[in-house]
Amino acid sequence: MKNEFCYAEYIWLDGCQPTQQLRSKTRIIPQGETGISLQDFPEWGFDGSSTYQAEGRSSDLVLRPVSYIKDTLRADNAFLVMCEVFEADAKTPHPSNQRAELRRLLEKGGDQHDIWVGFEQEYTFFKDNAPLGWPKDGYPAPQGPFYCSVGAKVAYGRDIVDAHMMACTEMNLMIYGINAEVMPGQWEFQIGYRGKKGESADPLTVSDHLWLARYLIHRIAEEKQVTVSFDNKPVKGDWNGAGMHTNFSTRATRDPQTGMSAIKAAIANLEKAHDAHIAVYGANLAERLTGHHETCDINTFRSGVSNRGASIRIPLNVSLEGYGYFEDRRPGANANPYEVVSKLIQTVCQL
Ligand code: ADP
Ligand code: MN
Ligand code: MN
Ligand code: MN
Repeated sequence: MKNEFCYAEYIWLDGCQPTQQLRSKTRIIPQGETGISLQDFPEWGFDGSSTYQAEGRSSDLVLRPVSYIKDTLRADNAFLVMCEVFEADAKTPHPSNQRAELRRLLEKGGDQHDIWVGFEQEYTFFKDNAPLGWPKDGYPAPQGPFYCSVGAKVAYGRDIVDAHMMACTEMNLMIYGINAEVMPGQWEFQIGYRGKKGESADPLTVSDHLWLARYLIHRIAEEKQVTVSFDNKPVKGDWNGAGMHTNFSTRATRDPQTGMSAIKAAIANLEKAHDAHIAVYGANLAERLTGHHETCDINTFRSGVSNRGASIRIPLNVSLEGYGYFEDRRPGANANPYEVVSKLIQTVCQL
């Protein structure tokens, strides 16, 4: 009886300003004998007046499933279903639906460039209003021993981080790695290109995967009464902020013949569009892009090989080989991957 149905968690982004938040609700769906496909998840509705997406007078909005993965944490027959939000006509993308704009850019020509992306998502655990592991009153030791650390004195929350990594792997999310960060209680996971044959690191897939991985870290931490902050600067003062470095390549940047010149051309275009990028790289970005703590200040554009004080960094191995990808270090941890990647496509591919 049980397996005639499946549990589908419909996930979407709300209209919260300045940073959109995840929302989700579950639907029990009849499951065919031959397994499930995207078409089996029906369109659904929700109350947009409770998510900052509509007025109470006409509050119904449409959820359209666009991709799904197995939710092995919940049950054998459970799924996470990523949705786009549409107006009540089920045709017009809602203004909060940034994924629709990314689709439009890919169709307009972005897809021809064979783009691969990889996000480095930094985030901070909080318990009882302080970063996880911090003393109840006051501060831990200054930054230094925590980055990539091991041991209960310096690494806080590894059980959650590991459970998340295992869940991502189990669910076929494109997780690339994890590491403890410079500020105690802060960690990073990377999602995106990882060199596996047949695995597409296209912008739409990787951005969906990043949202699903964010959803999962919230949910796994929930079990331990720990909250996850994607704030750019969770603790003011002499503590590292949290970013979402975005690694980007096209067929041209990866080609040994054209690689470095394509990367240089991309950087020249990015310099001209600096302000437009900053505008969509996350709320309160100025608090993080100060020119300290491994950042370039928000009003300066700088690129360089191996330079962690640059806006755009060319990784050392890419510089040595002469082709590959570049890293945009500006996006904040709270940035929307659909918006970041859309802007990069616009600027780099001149669309
Ligand atoms: P960092 O040295 O900046 O900390 P990480 O090791 O954390 O870098 O992450 C490397 C990132 O680069 C990953 O997200 C990975 O998906 C991405 N990446 C690697 N190669 C490419 C490529 N050719 N195109 C796009 N992204 C790539
Ligand atoms: Mn990293
Ligand atoms: Mn990092
Ligand atoms: Mn990085």
